[in-house]
Amino acid sequence: MLDLEKIRAEFPILQQKIQGKPLIYFDNAATSQKPRQVLDALQQYYTSMNANVHRGIHTLAERATAAFEETREAVRAFINAPSAEQVIFTRGTTESINLVAGSFGRKFIGPGDEIIVTTMEHHSNIVPWQMLCEEKGAVLKVIPINDAGELLLDEYEKLLSERTKLVAVVHVSNALGSVNPVAEVVRLAHQVGARVLVDGAQAAPHYQIDVQALDVDFYAFSGHKVYGPTGIGILYGKLDVLEAMPPYLGGGEMIKEVTFAKTTYNELPYKFEAGTPNIADAVALKEALAFVNQLGQNQIAAHENALLAHATQAVADVPGLRLVGTAQHKASVLSFVVDGLSALDIGMLLDAQGIAVRTGNHCAMPLMQRFGLTGTARASFAVYNTLEEVDSFVAQLRRVVKMMN
Ligand code: PMP
Repeated sequence: MLDLEKIRAEFPILQQKIQGKPLIYFDNAATSQKPRQVLDALQQYYTSMNANVHRGIHTLAERATAAFEETREAVRAFINAPSAEQVIFTRGTTESINLVAGSFGRKFIGPGDEIIVTTMEHHSNIVPWQMLCEEKGAVLKVIPINDAGELLLDEYEKLLSERTKLVAVVHVSNALGSVNPVAEVVRLAHQVGARVLVDGAQAAPHYQIDVQALDVDFYAFSGHKVYGPTGIGILYGKLDVLEAMPPYLGGGEMIKEVTFAKTTYNELPYKFEAGTPNIADAVALKEALAFVNQLGQNQIAAHENALLAHATQAVADVPGLRLVGTAQHKASVLSFVVDGLSALDIGMLLDAQGIAVRTGNHCAMPLMQRFGLTGTARASFAVYNTLEEVDSFVAQLRRVVKMMN
């Protein structure tokens, strides 16, 4: 069992009051809070080792480089990548996806080629592909979902053909909580020779990720959703495809030799890391992953599942409330609408009670359109949340619904 009191004590931000009430932070799918060891790592980096990486021979440069590369190795282990050179630092999931669109897409996607996404993608896993399709004359296809928010795999199979070059799918939906059968999506895509990119922004905080078991070609996630800092993210790729891809950004660090006649590029992963990287936040990310590993991903998932089950049951008889996203496999997200009440009103009235939930389209407008909605209210849970917080949230929600009706 997790010791929640001890865990919560590690998060200074949770100790404060909001609107005079104890903060209940249920906006974890947007970003999670940071434990003390992450905050300390940031401070320690700037007070004892700040220097640019890979270029200096002085002591601080060696320290910074060692710490930066230690995180790469920690990420490798976290997702079970075969080698650290397959782990590329980016600013976040969005940049990781854009890197693949801008590099893999630039080289390997041509007129008439097809890219498949799902109805439940975040805008960051739609727009880069639309931009690419527009530029290349390629075609975007969309896997439909059922009313519960589950992928229709039969329809997916019908979309696949030798024209399919890439399938881009979210592992866990930020708006619905649906957990997608990624291994099966990959297996089917590989049968037609397509590559698969998985948006793991919402999966990395909740599940043990094994990129080899999933057999994905690309896996993207953000540090800030997994108890790490903002501004640092990861792109994992299979070695053969990363090696075949051209650089994304040009500049320092990504080169081997530059002359005005010709430039040769650095090896992996540096080929994709032009310019001074976000060293401090990368160094602190290692502590975030250590925090998750110390608690154990299975324990974290079990706790969050218990919170979700409790919340799902508790809101069942709130008058006029309807859950959006009732997939059989669901993680940590309770998205809902209430008859006669806008999501915005719900969010504002809960905030007045110190409860942070997200409202709106969750950067998934096509998904909202699928459900005939403009938005939902969303409570999303992390390891430091408690059953008591869920009870307070549901009690306040009942009060809000009663008051407004
Ligand atoms: N995909 C999903 C499923 C997400 O939830 C998010 C963040 N809301 C993103 C992509 C984008 O992540 P970031 O903003 O950290 O780049």
